Amino acid sequence: MHKETQLVQIGKNKDRGTGAISYPVYHSTAYQHPGLGESTGFDYSRTANPTRTVLEEAIARLEEGDAGFACCSGMAAIQTVMGLFSRGDHLIVSLDLYGGTYRLFEEVLTRYGLSFSYADLRDPEAVERAATSRTRGIFIESPTNPLMRVTDLAVICGMARKHGWLSIVDNTFMTPFFQQPLALGADVVVHSATKYLGGHNDVLAGLIVTGTRDLSERVADLHNAVGTVLGPQDSWLLMRGMKTLALRMEKHQKNALALARFLDDHPGVEAVFYPTLSPKDREVQDRQAYGYGGMLSFRVKDAEMVAPFLSSLRLISFAESLGGVETLVTYPVTQTHADIPESIRKRVGVCDRLLRVSVGIEHADDLIEDLSRALDRARVTV
Ligand SMILES: *Cc1c(COP(=O)(O)O)cnc(C)c1O
Repeated sequence: MHKETQLVQIGKNKDRGTGAISYPVYHSTAYQHPGLGESTGFDYSRTANPTRTVLEEAIARLEEGDAGFACCSGMAAIQTVMGLFSRGDHLIVSLDLYGGTYRLFEEVLTRYGLSFSYADLRDPEAVERAATSRTRGIFIESPTNPLMRVTDLAVICGMARKHGWLSIVDNTFMTPFFQQPLALGADVVVHSATKYLGGHNDVLAGLIVTGTRDLSERVADLHNAVGTVLGPQDSWLLMRGMKTLALRMEKHQKNALALARFLDDHPGVEAVFYPTLSPKDREVQDRQAYGYGGMLSFRVKDAEMVAPFLSSLRLISFAESLGGVETLVTYPVTQTHADIPESIRKRVGVCDRLLRVSVGIEHADDLIEDLSRALDRARVTV
């Protein structure tokens, strides 16, 4: 079945007793046992909740995995998966990645005895160089946040498998509609479902999908033991958003292509980062994904342009998130990537002239008009 159909059908034919089209929200935290040693499949909501289960089955199917787990945020999903590692383990991580993931790794998990090396995963030799005798895992974002660099997932996950490392892919930017990392050899997929999957800037959620039964059992134990679960109301809201994912992703991408072209031609813009604009990234992306997504970033010519540009926007909001229907602009240096040390930011290319756009589903002409006016104002001011 096609992804569009799978998405729309989420929750249907699941509540057979009533025939509900929209699966109900089960608020009950406790479930009566039919008898000693018997269970309806539900005992206590942290372990399993009917509404959450429908969502978890849906994401597992969309990612073509063994099992899904819904968490109370993307960070909770990543933290839960990191419970698969033990003191002394080392992980190799994408060089430019979501700042919150960097903060979790460096400020929290290093205190638990894990260590991390950051490498440009477009280069398999850089991965080999980063490896140590303690390496046990690799954490990949592709395309990366915010520079949209594309990692060849089959190559890097293949290397991980050869070395016996667990490969984890943060698939937030692509969603299963455009990319299924497990089919390319990844062991685990994580999502900030707060972004495209939810799609409306109104629910904070994370998802995990495991590729094998053994991993599913281990993650199920962690999910239950740590309690990083998503509540039933938010599970329902997330499923409601996911039903329109296909339509939204197509429009996000169409608009992103139009904006990338406009920005690439603008005299106030030095560089635009979008997978179609780099021949190498495009070639890899075409091989492993069905699209390029709705995220792009660009570097203006002068850092002095940033403040007047942001204050001249009327339609597009200067706000810190992505993946919703509304177009948002972020300034990574002071927002999403503020916790990444300057030395790493510089190496990566997250400078004070870089702006990131989460392209929404408005009419592209209106977005271009807004960007055009703000860029022209900023250039006059400089
Ligand atoms: C937002 C984000 C996260 C964190 O997710 P939350 O839902 O905000 O906790 C992780 N990875 C990526 C790529 C993100 O964009």
